[in-house]
Amino acid sequence: MKKTGVVYDGYPSKEELEQSPGFPNTCSLSKGTKAVIECVQNIPCNPCEAACPYGAITIGDNITNLPILDVEKCIGCGNCVAPCPGLAIFTVNMNYSDTEAAIEFPFEYFPLPNKGDIVDAVNRAGEIMCKGTIIGIRSAKVFANTNVIKIAVPKEFADIVRSIKRLPRK
Ligand code: SF4
Ligand code: SF4
Repeated sequence: MKKTGVVYDGYPSKEELEQSPGFPNTCSLSKGTKAVIECVQNIPCNPCEAACPYGAITIGDNITNLPILDVEKCIGCGNCVAPCPGLAIFTVNMNYSDTEAAIEFPFEYFPLPNKGDIVDAVNRAGEIMCKGTIIGIRSAKVFANTNVIKIAVPKEFADIVRSIKRLPRK
């Protein structure tokens, strides 16, 4: 059987995500916008812990621990998305509208889309899954070259879409 997972594919498998302490379950995601931390390797890294002003992310003294998300403390502000050097943190709002979920993700490419644009939404492997509407773009000096984009997609793609297809240079 073909092996899957972050070591083989460059992105985590469903099993790896479900076992990760930063990955909220479906019930938690029904409670409002929440961080979704897709960090499944024990690497020496911890900026996400300091980036959360609500103490919702814990790594602790052992810097190679996986980040633990406290979904009750997380208010879905998205402050942890850009500081993650692994581009492994997203936010998901399952209740953006009756039919759509909102996904927030880091984006390091230019040109940036504009609010209101209809774009190709891609999965963790970069494959086009559906169309989405850009509903927010956050850029700040403190984020360096990492912008944070928010996209609305049909609810059934909330667990699948994690970025957008790069736009052609003008
Ligand atoms: S989304 Fe906001 S509240 Fe939730 S873990 Fe990230 S920084 Fe903390
Ligand atoms: S900052 Fe990102 S890569 Fe580093 S531990 Fe946190 S989630 Fe993982």
